[in-house]
Amino acid sequence: MTPQPGDALPISVRNVTKTYGSVHALDDVSIEVESGEFLTLLGPSGSGKTTLLMVLAGFTRPDCGSLKFGDREVIRTPPHLRDVGMTFQSYALFPHMTVAGNVGYPLRLRKVPKPELDERVERALETVQLGGFGSRRIDQLSGGQKQRVAVARAIVFEPRILLMDEPLSALDKKLRDQMQIELRHLHEKLGMTTVYVTHDQREALTMSDRIAVVNHGRIMQLATPRDLYERPANRFVADFIGDSTFLRVDRRGDRISYGDTALRLAAPPPAADNLLLMIRPERIVLSPEGPREGANNFAATATDVVYQGDSFLLNARLPDGNTIALRGAMRGENVVALPRVGDALTLSLAPEDTVLIDGSEG
Ligand code: ADP
Ligand code: MG
Repeated sequence: MTPQPGDALPISVRNVTKTYGSVHALDDVSIEVESGEFLTLLGPSGSGKTTLLMVLAGFTRPDCGSLKFGDREVIRTPPHLRDVGMTFQSYALFPHMTVAGNVGYPLRLRKVPKPELDERVERALETVQLGGFGSRRIDQLSGGQKQRVAVARAIVFEPRILLMDEPLSALDKKLRDQMQIELRHLHEKLGMTTVYVTHDQREALTMSDRIAVVNHGRIMQLATPRDLYERPANRFVADFIGDSTFLRVDRRGDRISYGDTALRLAAPPPAADNLLLMIRPERIVLSPEGPREGANNFAATATDVVYQGDSFLLNARLPDGNTIALRGAMRGENVVALPRVGDALTLSLAPEDTVLIDGSEG
C-alpha cells in the first residue's frame, strides 16, 4: 500500500554520532521508533536530547550514522522535505504575526492555496482547543495558549512525524498536568509517530509508550515506563526515575547476600560482579508481626517519621548504619499504626520486589 499523507512512519536511527569540539552531544545512538508510537527522550540537561531531535528534524547534520523514515534514508534531506512537524524548546512563534499567521506558516511555505489554508488553520486550532482564536495577537495569549499555537503549527500540515522539545517546561504544574493529558489525547487522535523530549521523569512516565533514557549522548535504556521503573538497567536509570535506596550486596556464585543474610529473589540477578539492591520506598513494607516468611526481612530503627496526609514517609536505620526510605499508605489495606522515632521495626521486601541492578555503571 502506498502511504497516504498523515499515515505514521517508523523511524530508524543507527549509530548516530555528533560532536561539538570535544563534547559528544550524541555518542553512537541507535533507536527504532515504531510507527505511531509515542516515544520520549528523557535525560538531564545537556544529555543530548535537543541534538537528537534536531538531527531527526534535519536542522543538525550528524558526523556519521544513518536515519530512516520508513524505508527512506533522510540524513541528507533538508528539513522542509522531511514531513516532520516540530515544536521548539522556546515556543519560537513569530510575535508580529497573528495566531492564524503563525499556524498557517508551514502551509504558506508549501504553497497551499488560500481557502484551503484558512480551513486547515481553523481545523488545527480547533484540534488544540483554540477555535476562533485565529485573529488574536501572540502577545495576547497565556503560556498555555502559546504552547497550543506551537502545537497547532506543528500539526497543521499533517506531518507523519511529530517532534516536541520540552513543550510544557515553561508552564505551571497544574496546566502542565492538564496539557500532558491533552497532548496524549491528541496523539491518540492523530496517530503520528511522536518523539517527545522532557527532563521530567513523571511527565515521561505519564505520556509515553516507551522511554529512552539519555545520559552524556548515550541511550542508557529504552523500555516501557513500567519496565524502566521496575527493572532499571543500571544505577543511572534507577536514580533518575523514582526514588530508591541502594544497598551494596555480596555475590558468591548464585548466593546473593546482604550482610549475613541470603536474599530471596524472584528473578535471576544481572550477570555483574558489582550488584546493588534497589529498594523503592513503596515496595518495602512495615511488618508489625515480625519477619515474614518467604520475604527478605530487615531489622531497623525508625529515624524519621513524616505524616503526609495520603501517606507517610519513614527513614529507618539498619544495624550497619545504612538507611532505608519507606512510604506507606494511611488508608486502605496494609495500614499500620505510625511508628515513632526510635521504634524497633521489621521491614519486609517480597522477593518479586527485590530488584538487583548492575552497580558498576553511572
Ligand atoms: P539537552 O537538550 O539534553 O539539554 P543538548 O542536545 O542541547 O542537550 O546538548 C548536548 C550537549 O551538546 C551539551 O553539552 C551542549 O552544550 C552541546 N551542544 C549542543 N549544541 C551545541 C552547539 N551548537 N555548539 C556547541 N555545543 C553544543
Ligand atoms: Mg534541550
